[in-house]
Amino acid sequence: MTDLLHTYQKLLNHYGPRNWWPAETPFEVVIGAILTQNTNWNNVEKAIANLRKGEALTLGAILNLPLETLEQLIRPSGFFRQKAERLQLFCRYLQEHHQGSLEHLFDRELNLVREELLQLKGIGPETADSILLYAGQRLSFVVDAYTYRLFGRLGILSGKEKYSAVRELFMSNLRQDVQLYNEYHALIVIHCKNFCRKKPLCDSCFFTEMCLYRQQNC
Ligand code: SF4
Repeated sequence: MTDLLHTYQKLLNHYGPRNWWPAETPFEVVIGAILTQNTNWNNVEKAIANLRKGEALTLGAILNLPLETLEQLIRPSGFFRQKAERLQLFCRYLQEHHQGSLEHLFDRELNLVREELLQLKGIGPETADSILLYAGQRLSFVVDAYTYRLFGRLGILSGKEKYSAVRELFMSNLRQDVQLYNEYHALIVIHCKNFCRKKPLCDSCFFTEMCLYRQQNC
């Protein structure tokens, strides 16, 4: 589908490469992907800064911290009790099944790794695909609410598609390129933050000519 590539190119031309994910290590990407559920990235940054300051950004540290201490460190990310439990569950799983190594986890057939991630408590498709793409450099497109919003307004999605169908649409129509998947998702996020907000700033947006929403509402 040329529309998807055309949209990508327009986003890339405007914003340039985003070079995601904003993290220093793959392990930090995983932590961020779990913490970012149901909150904005500013809150995640505060939680990660607390973990860094508390020297708790390693698998061993997260496992050894008392749950209550971990909860307080990640408190800024919201749902902190639930997320602390999920962090420890993930780390324990990694230690028990993959020698504590993300490389070991990722170094298998993609669908196998993805299914394994999806079986972990608190890891849904968006989190699993974020982990696969940004921590594992694996070819797995990330779909989120911004994806539905932007491509719904552009007229490419109806909004009723399941996560798996949207992911498949992108993955079967784009070339198989981890860097492209990496940039595309990051570009969708920035465009929805800058222009295609809940209340969109259509007058300043560069998608004017190809946007169904704009044509129908302005
Ligand atoms: S023209 Fe408006 S609705 Fe369309 S993509 Fe731009 S901001 Fe979103």
